[in-house]
Amino acid sequence: MSHKLRAGTPVRDRSAGSRWIDLMSGTAVRRAVLAGGLCLPWALAAEAAEPAGSVNPAKIRRLEIKAAELDESRAIREARAASEVPRLDAGIAGSENFTVLAPVGSHLADRVLEQAEAHRQELALIWLGEELPAGQEFTHIHVRVKPGADSGRVLLCGPERQLPGHHRMWLDTSEQLALTATLKHELAHVMLNARFPGGMPAWVNEGIASMYDDAPPRLRRKQILAEYVARSKFPQIAELLDRRQLPAGDESGYAVAVSLTELLLARGSRETLLQFTGDGMRNGWQAALQKHYAIQNVASLQREWEASLSSRTARQETSTRTR
Ligand SMILES: [Zn+2]
Repeated sequence: MSHKLRAGTPVRDRSAGSRWIDLMSGTAVRRAVLAGGLCLPWALAAEAAEPAGSVNPAKIRRLEIKAAELDESRAIREARAASEVPRLDAGIAGSENFTVLAPVGSHLADRVLEQAEAHRQELALIWLGEELPAGQEFTHIHVRVKPGADSGRVLLCGPERQLPGHHRMWLDTSEQLALTATLKHELAHVMLNARFPGGMPAWVNEGIASMYDDAPPRLRRKQILAEYVARSKFPQIAELLDRRQLPAGDESGYAVAVSLTELLLARGSRETLLQFTGDGMRNGWQAALQKHYAIQNVASLQREWEASLSSRTARQETSTRTR
C-alpha cells in the first residue's frame, strides 16, 4: 500500500484522512478516531492535517497525548454514567452504627441512614464532647411512613438494661420527620445512653431530646407553660425529678421537663447538667443542686423555675404587643 497525500490535503476529507492514517501507520490517530468515532474533534483533525512528508515525531507524540486524553475523558464519562444508574431500593441500609428498614420507593432507608450518621456525630460532639467509637450504641431503626403522624420510640438495650444487644428504634412519622426532628430526638436518647448506660431520670433525658423536636410539639408545650403562669398554678418539680418514665402522651410532663432543662442550661454548661444528673441520682437532688448550681434545695429550684416562666411569659406578651 502506498497512499500518498498531496501537500495541503485537508484531513477533513475522510478518504484523505484515512489514507493519512495509513500513511502514519501509528496507533495514535487511529486511537483518536476510534475514541471519538465520527465525532473526532475537528480541532484535532485540523492539527493532524499536515502535508505528506512533513509529519514529525513531536507532532505524533502530541497526537498520542490528545488521543489518550480522549480515551480517558470517555472512560470518566462512562464511569460517571454507570454510577448514576439508580441503585436498587431494597428498603434496607446499614453501616457500622445502624441498620435501617424503611418502605421502598424513595430510597428512604439510604437517606435515613445518612442522616442518622450525621445526627449521631453532631449529638455526640455536643453532649459527650467527642465522637463515639464506631459501633458503640449500635441501633436498629425501623421506619414506617405515616403522613400526619409523629411518633418515635427507642428501646435502649445493653448489659445494664432489661434486654441485651442493640438498641431498637421505631419511627412512625412522615418521611421528613424520619430524617430530621423525630430521628434526632430518639438519637439523642441513644447518645445519652453512652453517658448513662444504666438509665437516667426521664425529665432530663426527655428534656434534652425534646429540644430537637419539630415546631408543633414545642408550640404546645409553650402554651401549657403559659397556662400555668396565667392560672398561677404550677406542677411540683419534686414529683418529676426521680421519674424514670414519661408517657408519650404526658404533654405537661414534657413541658416541665424541657423548661427545667432549659433553665439549668441557662445557668451552666451541658457538661454541668450531665454531672448534676449523675450526682443527683447518686447523692440526691439537694446536694447536687448546691454543688453545681448554688441552689439551696428543690423548693428553691421550684421558686426559681416559676419565676423564670413568669418573666418569660411576660417578655413574650410584651414582644407580641409591640410587634
Ligand atoms: Zn423521647
